[in-house]
Amino acid sequence: MQKIWLSSPHMGGNEVDFVTEAFTTNWIAPLGPNVDGFEQDLSAYTGAKHVAALSSGTAALHLGLILLGVQPGDEVICQSMTFSASANPITYVGATPVFVDSEHTTWNMDPSLLEQAIKERLARGKKLKAIILVHLYGMPAQMDRITEIANNYGIPILEDAAEALGSQWNGKACGTLGTLGVLSFNGNKIITTSGGGALIADEEDIIRKARFLATQARDAAPHYEHSQIGYNYRMSNVCAGIGRGQMLVLEERIRRRRANYSFYKERLSDNGNIRFVDEPDGYFSNRWLTTVIIDETANGAIDRETVRIALEKQNIESRPLWKPMHLQPVFSGAPAYVNGVSEALFKQGLCLPSGSNLSQDDLQRIVKIIKTL
Ligand SMILES: *Cc1c(COP(=O)(O)O)cnc(C)c1O
Repeated sequence: MQKIWLSSPHMGGNEVDFVTEAFTTNWIAPLGPNVDGFEQDLSAYTGAKHVAALSSGTAALHLGLILLGVQPGDEVICQSMTFSASANPITYVGATPVFVDSEHTTWNMDPSLLEQAIKERLARGKKLKAIILVHLYGMPAQMDRITEIANNYGIPILEDAAEALGSQWNGKACGTLGTLGVLSFNGNKIITTSGGGALIADEEDIIRKARFLATQARDAAPHYEHSQIGYNYRMSNVCAGIGRGQMLVLEERIRRRRANYSFYKERLSDNGNIRFVDEPDGYFSNRWLTTVIIDETANGAIDRETVRIALEKQNIESRPLWKPMHLQPVFSGAPAYVNGVSEALFKQGLCLPSGSNLSQDDLQRIVKIIKTL
């Protein structure tokens, strides 16, 4: 039985032409025409005025925190329901993460809890330097209320749009809704450069600084002169070539991922105990992954693990939702503002195979297994 992956790379065909061009022109370096071209493509697509292509989304988050001036001893508010890469960079800069739980509608940061956390941290004399907000599985967060709260307290938003390239909130691209945005092109994301990321912003100065820090912070001099600590975080021109090819098929990838969601929803929502997350008005999700809640409390209903294991036995990969950061052993000492939502999502939630390269037969096979449970 052929393996069905959760979300595997899906090349469009033109990637290899851009990569070949890098070879024939000998631009095998972390700079070159593909890097410039990929940055321009991302800028045109998202509407962000400036883009720095980097080696990973994690590197982009790290530089983002540095550029927002986060220092040892500061605190950074971070959505608890996310992948660890959203939170790890907070510790790279010596700051402390403060985790905030989710709301039911989008599964992203709960605005009321965010405000409570800000008030309480400030009352304790803490320095809050940034809010890391995530658009989980491609679904935009509640930007209206969150932006209002962040503005009221003058705290910048670092938007982790690693899973949300192509998603929009009120017609604006995810990644362009905060002060700084982060994208990822890891192998499992909606488009990939094998590994890569980007930091995006409207402010030219901040992106110029990001490029400077990402290339070892070399001052202008014929020799190597440094007045700041630098990083080696630039994207390779070979990888950027893959990215340029992937940009040509991004719209089609979004269309296919959204079709996966519709397929599952049409066939599985009459199951009674399987629930889907709809888009509120004005929200557009790229549906990077189709996620479902499997409510085992319904009469005679199956639980999440029963579904996951049944799929695994048939060589089909599915995965529980992200385990919240406030429940991770590595962050056990971090302050957290919780309401039980992310913990329940983790207990009942499952990511179904969602690749844009799934065939109709693959989807039928998956649905059939779940329906017979
Ligand atoms: C993938 C991902 C990242 C990290 O991106 P990399 O390019 O793998 O470093 C960060 N945050 C979220 C929410 C992600 O899903």
